[in-house]
Amino acid sequence: MRFFIVLICLLLPLDSAIAAVDIALRGKDPVRLEDVYQQQGIPYIAIEDALGAVGLTGHWNSISHSFRIRTKHGWAEISPASQFLKIAGEYYPLKEKPRFIDGRLRVTDSFILNQLAQLTGRSIYFRNLDPDIDNAPAREISNLEKLFAFFLNKKTTKNGPLIRAVAIDPGHGGLDTGVIAATGFKEKQLNLEVAKKLAKQLKMKLGIPVYLSRDGDYELTMEQRLQAASKEDVDLWILLHAQATFSPQQKGVTLFIRADEMTRNVPAEGVEETTESDSLILAKKLSLALQESAIEVRGIYSSSRLSLGRGNLPTVQIELGFLSHQEELQQLQSSDYQDKIVQALFTGIHRYAKLSKEKIESVK
Ligand SMILES: [Zn+2]
Repeated sequence: MRFFIVLICLLLPLDSAIAAVDIALRGKDPVRLEDVYQQQGIPYIAIEDALGAVGLTGHWNSISHSFRIRTKHGWAEISPASQFLKIAGEYYPLKEKPRFIDGRLRVTDSFILNQLAQLTGRSIYFRNLDPDIDNAPAREISNLEKLFAFFLNKKTTKNGPLIRAVAIDPGHGGLDTGVIAATGFKEKQLNLEVAKKLAKQLKMKLGIPVYLSRDGDYELTMEQRLQAASKEDVDLWILLHAQATFSPQQKGVTLFIRADEMTRNVPAEGVEETTESDSLILAKKLSLALQESAIEVRGIYSSSRLSLGRGNLPTVQIELGFLSHQEELQQLQSSDYQDKIVQALFTGIHRYAKLSKEKIESVK
């Protein structure tokens, strides 16, 4: 018996630090998980716990020696012997292999934020309560992530109008409310109202089709959201959201573009010419038009969120304001202020369209 206890002690991972994490589907209350091991700065979370926190289930299959996750796309499988997630006969690379630690199969934060978000079709909030910063190795953005993401390509149009169609994604919907203000006003409602108004402006004034990912109060998978943006004639994609924060004085509009489209413009040593990505140009046009309408803009930031997809389709995610700011909340709820924002967004898009047309014509 004593030997057995010694053996167990030896099997315990001595180099691991115990940690805790919060996990939540975006818009839901976070679930705190305390059976977490941290190794070289990377948190390892038991797969069953992580699934439970995002409303999925799964089980260990001792015959195939793999863990099977039930998803709406079929069974997804991971194994401690493999650095891939297998689903419907396809293999998707993982940043870190799942590991057995202390008797449970565990996955990392990267798995939760990327693959699990993809499997649930929702973005996931993840917070490490004991980040082991000193020990954390530099975790570069790998090509692996790109392989597990939707690719949105910019189409080349030689003739005709530069913006043939616009896709708009009003964030959240249905049970996924997004941010809820103290007054009960929900982000999903604001996003939809602004999306519909902007769609109307674009259709009326530019005479182009506009595709909304949703036109009512219902939930969408990430795939469904991307469907509108993937349409053949879509030349521009706008995602609408709103924010909230614990510091009540923060306010204003924030613009996000894909991380790689932001960094592409940092001039490298020895390289004189740099070209701005279309997403950045579009974000700048939007920002300027908003500021001209006396709407505060906090800035243009890069986002590595999967919700933006990957690729080079001109894309900007607009955080319309802070529902945690009393005055801004009142404004965002008012039709007049919404119209003002929509008018500015239309102006920005219109200028972008004119600019890109000039660019093409100067090349001719
Ligand atoms: Zn949102």
